[in-house]
Amino acid sequence: MCLCGLEMGKSDSCNFKRVKLGKKIYNRVDDSFDDNKRCHDCGILNKKGNIHHVFCDMEKCPKCGRQLISCQIFGGCDAKEYMEFMK
Ligand SMILES: [Zn+2]
Ligand SMILES: [Zn+2]
Ligand SMILES: [Zn+2]
Repeated sequence: MCLCGLEMGKSDSCNFKRVKLGKKIYNRVDDSFDDNKRCHDCGILNKKGNIHHVFCDMEKCPKCGRQLISCQIFGGCDAKEYMEFMK
């Protein structure tokens, strides 16, 4: 189960469309791996408009372009910023 409340592997997209990094709110990246197949990690359908579930290793950070999960582990682009997922 993702933090968004949906079950991974049975949902086409995450419910959280935005992420707050520091004081700024970004739209989550939806073109990480656009091939119309299920994501090997979080199970979403990879196509434009669909968002990976929280903690998926395929999602890119909207701020720095690296893996978002590494920004999560290091607290937001290595800067120990506040991070929150939002609808
Ligand atoms: Zn989700
Ligand atoms: Zn994924
Ligand atoms: Zn980042």
